Amino acid sequence: MYFDDEPGPVFRPPSEADSFILRVTVGCSHNACTYCNMYRTVKFHVKTPDDVSAQIQAAVAAGLPVKRVFLADGDALVLSVERLLSILSELYAAFPKLQRVAAYAGPRAILGKDRRDLLALREKGLKLLYYGLETGDDRLLKEINKGVDAREAVEAGCRVRAAGIKLSMMIIIGLGGVGGSAEHARHTAEAVNIIKPDMLSALTLMLYRGSELKEKYERGQFNILTPPQLMDELSAVLRGINLPPDARTLFRSNHISNYVSLAGTLPKDKEKLLRQAEAAHAELVKMPFYDPYNNAEYF
Ligand code: SF4
Repeated sequence: MYFDDEPGPVFRPPSEADSFILRVTVGCSHNACTYCNMYRTVKFHVKTPDDVSAQIQAAVAAGLPVKRVFLADGDALVLSVERLLSILSELYAAFPKLQRVAAYAGPRAILGKDRRDLLALREKGLKLLYYGLETGDDRLLKEINKGVDAREAVEAGCRVRAAGIKLSMMIIIGLGGVGGSAEHARHTAEAVNIIKPDMLSALTLMLYRGSELKEKYERGQFNILTPPQLMDELSAVLRGINLPPDARTLFRSNHISNYVSLAGTLPKDKEKLLRQAEAAHAELVKMPFYDPYNNAEYF
């Protein structure tokens, strides 16, 4: 639920379905990843304090029993620490039952905050950040124009963890195409091992209309992975993830983009997940390959 009538797409993670969505920015300040078209139609800007307060008061007036808030849009952490602290204070004052405030965070926005900033935000109630690492491969990060190199991408994840803010991290299976698959899998697993996120979601690459990567694919310059190849890559990532025995990373590969739904806790369920991925692979190789982008109106 949200109370903002400014045009433009509003996205939120699936786990924020019941949250009050508070738009503190519109669009994404980076807005340049080659695989993403989420906010291409909107010019990034920051919502005014009055605008933010009006949304909060509308939710209060509606009598909503708000327990969770998600700060939208694409990388709300880009706001200054002072502004974020002020929003958090306003939220916790307005909603006595509020338990958690979460947001998407781009790597540059995270790196723009130091440890003290992030600690202050956590203490004021910023409990969870959703961060798209996408890959740990330096070459691929440059190719997709993520705005950071591999060292910075890993540092961003570590910084969130070190501040005690829960980190839900996304990676994208298939992002490197056929040619980049092995390196993508290897370096992504290495990055996960260093960051040790609380939650890890493996999404599957989807090529969206209006994105540079879709255009590259249409020019024949990017070869997508077939479903069995995607399972191979996912297995390679899982094999490469070696977290300490006491880690409890919730692993999910059950996004709408995934061919097969997998879920477990790492490292405990690693072997089980690998067996499930192998079984899925055995089924997928029996099926004819259907190019999802042929005549697809949706992408
Ligand atoms: S940072 Fe996220 S929302 Fe912004 S362009 Fe990249 S993928 Fe899209």
